[in-house]
Amino acid sequence: MVNYTFKGGIHINSPHLAEKLVVKQVPPPEQAVLLLQQKVGGEATPCVQIGDKVLTGQVIAKTLGRYSANIHASISGVVSAIEKRLIPHPSGINGICIVIDSDGKDKWIEIGKYDQDFKNYTPDEVIQKIHEAGVIGMGGAGFPTYTKISNVQDVNTLIVNATECEPGIMCDDSLMQEYSSDIIRGTEVLMYACGSYNSIIAIEDDKQEAYQSLLMSNHNDNISIVQIPVKYTSGAEKILIKILLGIEIPSGEFASDHGVLCQNVATVKAIYDAVIYNKPLVSRIVTVTGSAVKEPRNYEVRLGTSFASVVMQSKPNSNPHNIRIGGMMMGVDVPSVQYPICKITNCIFVNNIKPKSSVQSCIRCGQCNKVCPVGLLPQQLFWYAKSENIDRAMDYNLKDCFECRCCDVVCPSHIPLVKYFSFAKALHSKQTIERQKTDMARERFEFKEYRIERNKTERTDMMAKKKEELKNKMAEDKAQKDKILQAIVRVERSKKG
Ligand code: SF4
Ligand code: SF4
Repeated sequence: MVNYTFKGGIHINSPHLAEKLVVKQVPPPEQAVLLLQQKVGGEATPCVQIGDKVLTGQVIAKTLGRYSANIHASISGVVSAIEKRLIPHPSGINGICIVIDSDGKDKWIEIGKYDQDFKNYTPDEVIQKIHEAGVIGMGGAGFPTYTKISNVQDVNTLIVNATECEPGIMCDDSLMQEYSSDIIRGTEVLMYACGSYNSIIAIEDDKQEAYQSLLMSNHNDNISIVQIPVKYTSGAEKILIKILLGIEIPSGEFASDHGVLCQNVATVKAIYDAVIYNKPLVSRIVTVTGSAVKEPRNYEVRLGTSFASVVMQSKPNSNPHNIRIGGMMMGVDVPSVQYPICKITNCIFVNNIKPKSSVQSCIRCGQCNKVCPVGLLPQQLFWYAKSENIDRAMDYNLKDCFECRCCDVVCPSHIPLVKYFSFAKALHSKQTIERQKTDMARERFEFKEYRIERNKTERTDMMAKKKEELKNKMAEDKAQKDKILQAIVRVERSKKG
């Protein structure tokens, strides 16, 4: 168990748990829609064209820069479109996708030579393999893993985050039960790549089967498997570091500034596949749960499979549904199930639509202040956000709010506090951009004024210099003439004499 804890947070019972945690394999889809942009970074650039035949595992889009990820075909077949499609986003926006129609064969690309003894590669080669396999943070963050590893220097501790970040999500629990030895091996690979001698796998204490599986598979004294009490938001990176190591990472600093690298457990499994077997990221485990499905369950799904076909496996009822991607707390509501599974899709909630509670005025009960895990004063932030006094909200560290919704959940007046906070943050970004534009315009004007003044001074100085030079020249000429005259006078005198 751990020695440290954190203030705030809330206890929430996991809703709609699966009866069986065994992962059900979903057959490859007839059509895969692969999104080129991940949550973080730019779009990958397609390296196939419409009509090309592709094999499962083939690179179909390559990274541009350090903040995007390679995309691989998740089925074999023919590229039928490269076009904008609806992507899993609350605002219903489009993103460029490569669409592959299956040939029904699921024929894999020839996997190149690989060496199961990863120490035969250099750490840089290991990171390169992770990069080529298109691995990104699979806990929902979506940050390219090779960039995260290469950004950290002098890692003292690697933390494998095996806490389901939110109640209701079960995919990592299943993953740990089914692939515990791969996760231990993946942790060793990651320790080698980032140069850390120690690693902690943090798991919640209600996941006893997964905990026991990991314990049985672990034969490395430098890897500790630590149980932490179930309390939302213990899976948030900074909070987990505080619980495990007692290190409080100040606002504006990162785990890497303190020699700590955190990776989600599903990412570690993807790293294992990439480094030990050269296998690119073409599938993931997804939880389907919620009040509207008969069989909440975890599925291993090829990327690009439609939400609808995965949700159908859990037998949803025929009522209208509220669809939420990600956790019940920090997930986002989307209008339908017409989206493809992406690398970061860890959970799909399918809930019956409930009438919304009516919002009342703040009664200053202070409940929200007690539960904030980062020590903010949500009540105060609410007043400033509501009155659009954004500077004051920023003085109260609004930027540290990571929108966990603990304050929302406990508010007896049902005030959607986080909506106010995200609005205030957006307004702050807009104001900052406007201020930057104004500052730039002012700087441009001031520079123009300075240039005019400088040119004037330079011209005056130049004129004065020229005048001085002319004066000196005239004086020199006069002296020369005087010398000549004196010489003539001397010559005439000598003639007379
Ligand atoms: S949403 Fe923000 S203010 Fe509310 S509890 Fe979470 S971190 Fe604190
Ligand atoms: S919990 Fe709600 S009602 Fe209570 S102080 Fe906070 S905002 Fe006001």
